[in-house]
Amino acid sequence: MKIIIPDIPKEGIDVDIQETITSDGAPFAIHARLKVVKIGSEIMVKGNLKAEVELQCSRCLKKFAGDVSVPVDVVYHPVEELKGEDYHEIESEELDSDFYSGDELDLISLLKEQVALNIPMKPLCNDLCRGLCPNCGADLNESPCSCSMKNIDPRFEELRKLLKERKE
Ligand SMILES: [Zn+2]
Ligand SMILES: [Zn+2]
Repeated sequence: MKIIIPDIPKEGIDVDIQETITSDGAPFAIHARLKVVKIGSEIMVKGNLKAEVELQCSRCLKKFAGDVSVPVDVVYHPVEELKGEDYHEIESEELDSDFYSGDELDLISLLKEQVALNIPMKPLCNDLCRGLCPNCGADLNESPCSCSMKNIDPRFEELRKLLKERKE
């Protein structure tokens, strides 16, 4: 979805994007409601973005569909400003700023970027996910494996020794 910058009316435009886009070979559905306003040479894009992405649980490695919801608040400056002296000023004032060149603003690439930035680093299929046994690799969500009884957390090993010594 491309916005033709000279066509943006004074009051701005509301954009509703519902699409399946592909990023890094993985397709995912996005739904974004954005308001695009042009003020002078700057273009403000504000709104909300929801994406359904395939995540992999960092504990049990199972793949699951996760929702990413991102508030969008980006200011686009004409790329010509990059050459100007005020560039550093802009950079420190606004964290979410970007540049456009020519007459077009590509909202899809903005949305892709926002999704990529907001994908959780260590997703969990469930807050209570037990993960895989580090010893035999069994999925502990399905059933406890036979080694879970024998293996004691190393932090408790010292305590166990002490208790044993006392008993003897
Ligand atoms: Zn999991
Ligand atoms: Zn095991």
